[in-house]
Amino acid sequence: MTALHGALVARIARTGPISVADYMTECLLHPTHGYYTTRDPLGAAGDFTTAPEISQMFGEMIGLWLAQVWMDQGAPEEFALVELGPGRGTLMADALRATARVPGFHAGLRLHLVEASPALRARQEAALQGHEVTFHDHPASLPDLPTYLIANEFFDALPIRQFQRAKTGWHERMIGVVDGQLAWGLAPEAPVEALADRVADTHEGQVVEWNASAQALAADFGNRIEALGGAALILDYGDEVSIGDTLQAVRGHAPVDALASPGATDLTAHVAFGPLASASRARASRLTPQGVFLERLGITARAEALAAKLQGAALDSHIAAHRRLTHPSEMGTLFKVLALTPTHCPAPPGLEPA
Ligand code: SAH
Repeated sequence: MTALHGALVARIARTGPISVADYMTECLLHPTHGYYTTRDPLGAAGDFTTAPEISQMFGEMIGLWLAQVWMDQGAPEEFALVELGPGRGTLMADALRATARVPGFHAGLRLHLVEASPALRARQEAALQGHEVTFHDHPASLPDLPTYLIANEFFDALPIRQFQRAKTGWHERMIGVVDGQLAWGLAPEAPVEALADRVADTHEGQVVEWNASAQALAADFGNRIEALGGAALILDYGDEVSIGDTLQAVRGHAPVDALASPGATDLTAHVAFGPLASASRARASRLTPQGVFLERLGITARAEALAAKLQGAALDSHIAAHRRLTHPSEMGTLFKVLALTPTHCPAPPGLEPA
């Protein structure tokens, strides 16, 4: 039993069942028992591995994408380079290395990282030595500059609420306590205004997820980018709309029960990109599979150039990494890419207009 389990059982006994969103927030970000607050969960020895940890090529491609979009917008002299939830800082370090020779890019960039975890902030600072970094608890404090933003596997960690379709309304899925253990339950049927358009495409018993924080963030960034210039590149696993229960708990690279060890397992949910695309005035790209996007940006040419200097086991693992990032049966199709850019600017490289 984790310490957070006891705290949650006591809280629920005091004030009643909690939503999945409240549960995720407590589990991931509790100041002393939260999953992200207390550890570095990434890598082979941790609980999960992300694209930038698989190969340097991922961050390099994204760095070049950001620099190209910046040039296409007239290379604004001073701009914010922002990452949401940078993990170990690997993506940004690779992106900065890849763009070091783009004239004016490093001179003009102001590096801003939005990161909740003190443990990961320390990793990011170490990875980005030599660059001046400003940390933020929340995007609301970012400067008013043209904003080039990247978020890889960040939106999937934001808290979702889950609703099970009833005849005309919805039962919210809640977490309560039965016999001293956390247990699933359903709130009484009620209408949910934010899901009014989902009554038509769901049937009784189906679960739909609603990510209010993700939508609010996308609205804020989209409008900021439309007004000030810049771009947002969101990469994550998910699809256009939310259907079904996608809450996933992972520990040691394997799925586990989401209620079993609160604070000690990673919790994520698929990202519904449609609501993010339409949340702001900015132009959304067509939702594109990660593999297609990386191929269009030239990852294969980069992979071949790196392969020429490798042999034996290093070459084998490089080839496996390229495959893992791009192949449809690995991350290539499950992971999707959405960009938001100003309506008056050209479409970004590798992505078509929606
Ligand atoms: N982008 C990195 C890490 C993904 S893990 C990579 O691709 O490797 C999710 C990251 O988001 C972690 O750095 C975590 O600490 C951070 N995070 C999660 N929820 C957050 C929140 N609400 N506010 C700020 N950072 C958050």
